[in-house]
Amino acid sequence: MTVAITFLGGARTVTGSMHLVTTNSSNTILDCGLFYGHRDQYYDVNSAFSFLPENVDSCVLSHAHIDHCGNIPNLIKKGFRGAIHCTPATRDLCRYMLPDSGHVQEEDIRYVNKINKKRGLPPRQPLYTKKEAEKSLKFLRSLEYHKTLSINEDVNLTFYDAGHILGSAVSVLDIKARKKSLRLAYAVDLGRSGMPLLRDPESPKDIDYMIIESTYGGRAHEDIKEAEDELARVITRTVKRGGKVIIPSFALERTQLIVFFISHLMKKKKIGKIPIFVDGPLAVNLTKVFRSHWSYFDEVTQMDIRNNEDPLGYEAVTYIKNVNQSKKLNEIKKPVIIISGSGMCENGRILHHLKNNVENPRNTIVVIGYMAEDTLGRSIVEKKKIVRIFGRPYDMNAEVVIINAFSSHADKYALTDYIESCREKLKQIFIVHGDIEQSEALRQRISRKLNMKPRIPAKGEVVYVK
Ligand SMILES: [Zn+2]
Ligand SMILES: [Zn+2]
Repeated sequence: MTVAITFLGGARTVTGSMHLVTTNSSNTILDCGLFYGHRDQYYDVNSAFSFLPENVDSCVLSHAHIDHCGNIPNLIKKGFRGAIHCTPATRDLCRYMLPDSGHVQEEDIRYVNKINKKRGLPPRQPLYTKKEAEKSLKFLRSLEYHKTLSINEDVNLTFYDAGHILGSAVSVLDIKARKKSLRLAYAVDLGRSGMPLLRDPESPKDIDYMIIESTYGGRAHEDIKEAEDELARVITRTVKRGGKVIIPSFALERTQLIVFFISHLMKKKKIGKIPIFVDGPLAVNLTKVFRSHWSYFDEVTQMDIRNNEDPLGYEAVTYIKNVNQSKKLNEIKKPVIIISGSGMCENGRILHHLKNNVENPRNTIVVIGYMAEDTLGRSIVEKKKIVRIFGRPYDMNAEVVIINAFSSHADKYALTDYIESCREKLKQIFIVHGDIEQSEALRQRISRKLNMKPRIPAKGEVVYVK
C-alpha cells in the first residue's frame, strides 16, 4: 500500500491550510482554508484548485479558523459533493464564520470593483458570496471526539482534542489496505497545555506519520500568569486616570479568552468592577456557541459553570450586536473596557472605537493578537505617532500595551513535547503551517532533541508513505 500526501496549502507559510491524501481507492482533503496575501495573490491562490474538487471523496476539517475552513464554499462551488467532517462545535462555529467570510468577500469585491470602474477595468466576482457560504453548511457532518467513523472505503477518521480553539481537533486517519494499515495524524493547529478554558491537547497513540504546525516553531511564549498580572496592572492604571481600555480582538477564541481572563481578574478582586463591552455581532454569536458547548471546557471551568458561575461574563459583561448600541458606547465618559473586531483593526467596529479614543492620553489600547504588516494594528504595535483611520490622520496619544502571551498555538517547547508524546512508532514528521524560519527552527530542534529527520514539504510537493 502506498499513500500519497500532496501539500497544497499552508506549506512553508501559515495560512491556506489544505492537503490531499490519496490512497488506492479514495481522495481525502485535510482542511480547505483561505490563504492571506496581497489582494491579487489572494484571489489567484484561493480561486483555483490544483485538483478536481468533484474527484475528492471527503474533507476533514480541523477547526473553524478561516485559514482552515474559509475556502470550503468555493470548493463546493467548484464541484465537491462529499461530506465535510468536523466536531459538533466546529460545525456550529462555521455556521457563523463562513457566512461572515462570504460577507467580507462581497464587501471586498465591491471596493475592488469601485476602483476597477474608475480605471475602466471589468468588474470581478467575489470568491464566494454569503449565500453560497450558507449553502455550503449543509455539507458539514459532525463527529464527536474519540468516536471512529468510516469516511471512505479505506479510511477511518477519529478526532482528538487539539486544545487550540473550541472544537479544534487533531484528526487521525486510519488507512487500511488488505494486509497493512497506516495511521496519519494531522495536528494543525495545536493548542497549549495549561491554558484556562479549554482542555490540553491530546496525544493519539500508535501514529506512523504526523503533519504538524509550526507557527511558533522557533519561539517561546511568555508566561501566561505574568500576562494576566500585566493585564491587571494596565486596566488598573487606566481606570485610575479615568480612561477607557480598548482591546482589538479576533471574534473567535481570542475574544472569549480575554473576557475569561478579565472576568477572572474581577472575581479574584485583582481589578475593580468596571463595565466590559464585547462589541460585534460575530463575537456575540460565537460566544453563544461557546456557551452551548460547555462540555468541551476544561474541568475547572465546568466546575465553575456547575456552581452557577459564568466564565464568559462575570457580572460586568455586556454583549452588543446592535449598531446604535455600539455607537452609544462613545457617549460613556467613565472607564470601560471595549473588546471589538477586527483583530488586526482592518475593518469592523474597532475602527470607530479607535477613532474615538486614540487621541486621549487617558485611554489605553491593549494589543493581544498578531498584527500583520500594512495593517492599522501594526501601526499601533509600532507605536506610530500618527495613525490613519478611515483615511484621516489621528494623533496617537493613548498608551499602547502589547501582551503576546494569549496565543492559542503551542510554542517550540510544547510542539517538541507533543511530538515526543506520540513518538513510539512515528516514522516521519511533516512540518507545515509556519513561516520558513519557524518551520526550519522546529525541524532543527526535533532533529537535535528527538534524533529524527522531519521534512518541510513545499507547496505542491507530493510525498509517498507506506
Ligand atoms: Zn487555528
Ligand atoms: Zn491556522
